[in-house]
Order: sequence, then structure tokens, then C-alpha cells
Amino acid sequence: MSECIFCKIVKGELKAYKIYENNECIAFLDINPINPGHTLVVPKKHVENILEADNDTISAVFTAVREVSKLLINKLGASGINIIHNAGRAANQEIMHFHVHVIPRYDPEDIGLVDWWRRNIKKLNLEEIYRRIIS
Ligand code: AMP
Ligand code: ZN
Repeated sequence: MSECIFCKIVKGELKAYKIYENNECIAFLDINPINPGHTLVVPKKHVENILEADNDTISAVFTAVREVSKLLINKLGASGINIIHNAGRAANQEIMHFHVHVIPRYDPEDIGLVDWWRRNIKKLNLEEIYRRIIS
């Protein structure tokens, strides 16, 4: 799986704004966020998606999802979180390494339905958001 970009991020071969890590998972800012703090939680072990993952991996990923959610609420002032997982190409999975989208919400009106799938709507400064989360 040497060409998998999320494996490269796990190994530190590709830069990412990593905001959380435990033994099994890392979490980093999505490069093309739909809201400030949009984060991806990924297992360190390469597995395609939730359908292929074993129960321990699923448990570790969703435990990390909750920790990351709390971090985003505390550091960015989010008041809600949407959690999305795309499993399979028909479900719009583009990167075939298990990842869960953790999307902070600040207001019920801050993301329209169309924004979920049309990425790159908001031009956000990842560096600035990263510093707010890790400070
Ligand atoms: P999905 O459609 O669920 O497979 O989503 C893949 C996500 O990975 C998209 O939201 C991309 O913006 C994000 N992404 C792709 N490459 C990178 C990268 N190098 N660093 C961070 N996020 C990435
Ligand atoms: Zn991978």
C-alpha cells in the first residue's frame, strides 16, 4: 500500500496538520474543508473502509472520533458535530483508506446540503485553524 496517501501521512512521509494521535489512529485536518476544523480520523493500519475493518479497529476509530469532536468543540467553539463515513466508490469514497469525517458545526445554517458534496466552497486557512486547535 506504498502509494496510499493516508498511509504516507501515517508514516510522516506526507505533510498533514495532525491534531490528534493515539496508538491506533491519527487525525488531521481535511485539505479541502467544508467548515473550519473539518478533520479526518484514520486508523494507522491500512484497511479500506468500515466494511473491511475488524471490530477493534472500528472501536479505536470511533473512540478517536469522540476525542477529536471534544477537541474541536473546546478549541474552536463548535456547538455540534457531523460524523460522516463514505464506504465504497458508489458512496463517494475517494481515498480507499478508512477515514471518518468529523465536521464541526457552528450554526444550523453554516453548511447547505449541496456543500456536503461540492468541496472547496470555503477557502479556509488551515495553518490558522491548526494553531487554534493545538494551542
Ligand atoms: P472521501 O470522499 O470520503 O474519500 O474523502 C476524502 C477526503 O480526503 C476529502 O475530503 C479530501 O479533501 C481529503 N484529502 C485528500 N487528500 C488529502 C490530504 N493530502 N490531506 C488531507 N486531506 C486530504
Ligand atoms: Zn493506506
